[in-house]
Amino acid sequence: MIPFLDLGAAYRELEAEINDSVKRVLQSGWYILGEEVEAFESEFAVYCNAAHAVGVANGLDALILSLRAVGISPGDEVIVPSNTFIATWLAVSAVGAVPVAVEPDPLTHNIDPTRIQTAISPRTKAIIAVHLYGQPADLDAILDVARRHKLFLIEDAAQAQGARYKGQRIGAHADAVCWSFYPAKNLGAMGDGGAVTTNSSDVADAIRMLRNYGSREKYKNDVKGLNSRLDPIQAAILRVKLSCLDEWNGRRKAIAKLYLEQLAGLDLILPAVPDWADPVWHLFVVRVRERERLQERLAGMGVSTQIHYPLAPFQQKAYAEQAHAYTGLEIAERLAAEVLSLPIGPHQAIEDTKAVLNSIRKAAEL
Ligand SMILES: *Cc1c(COP(=O)(O)O)cnc(C)c1O
Repeated sequence: MIPFLDLGAAYRELEAEINDSVKRVLQSGWYILGEEVEAFESEFAVYCNAAHAVGVANGLDALILSLRAVGISPGDEVIVPSNTFIATWLAVSAVGAVPVAVEPDPLTHNIDPTRIQTAISPRTKAIIAVHLYGQPADLDAILDVARRHKLFLIEDAAQAQGARYKGQRIGAHADAVCWSFYPAKNLGAMGDGGAVTTNSSDVADAIRMLRNYGSREKYKNDVKGLNSRLDPIQAAILRVKLSCLDEWNGRRKAIAKLYLEQLAGLDLILPAVPDWADPVWHLFVVRVRERERLQERLAGMGVSTQIHYPLAPFQQKAYAEQAHAYTGLEIAERLAAEVLSLPIGPHQAIEDTKAVLNSIRKAAEL
């Protein structure tokens, strides 16, 4: 069976360095925040071209803390893509604000900036742009709307470590950029982890305080914060992994290039890449009308695929009570019914990529 993603192979490639880095933390006697987290924060900030990076417990918390840091509060509205991973919406709900859905461009899967304007109301305070599947959203167009309406912009970059927008790495275009280091992400830890990068020292300072019980100084609590800190063991592992992120993203790009070349002309819709986008292919997502049939046939030929995501956030039971507010989101519904993610990852052998391609060709003939 060709795996969807082989995380064990990622460990094996870096086994010695990762073991050493974990041991270093264990021997240090320091297990919360501290030097290792600070070292990762400064290395990741440099990588992202951002003035600050603050490590937090996971990507969902990075979003929640960013919304709180810019002052989003109950009753506010926040514009989100209709077709993102549910964490983007959950963060908005967690601070008591209302997610307002905007439809994506069905070819890039990213929020359509031309649809944002009509979703803005007097209660709108922020936009969350998601760089879905590792491809940057159109930040200049989104920033333009945000500035005209005095809205905060937050980026959900959980899937886009290393991606570039108009030549510049994602990491500091918005007021806050939110990262997840969930193991399967392009920069993945070996447990949960997250971060916020920003050029704003106010936002960075607010997130440092919020992640640590709302405290700047021990036992003095300025606001009702959380405990959401990046674990130093994960920080140490992330430092090792950050040093090969570009190389590993390069391997994903080579697979995506083959998929794009070799799947052209078949009866499926390939992801569109605008010329200003340099995606890092967290996922390679095609659209097929008879998705279940293709997925079954591929499974029969030993190719594992996944679906990201079978239901849009507003179709989930979690949002059933608000369903009346989310009607007419036909693009997100269609995408949820048609998307299929092909295997991709830095440890996928070329023979496996070729086998996936052959299987898809064969499945298309049946
Ligand atoms: C993974 C992910 C998150 C959440 O990150 P966690 O670290 O799992 O909490 C948020 N948004 C998107 C788009 C993601 O892919």
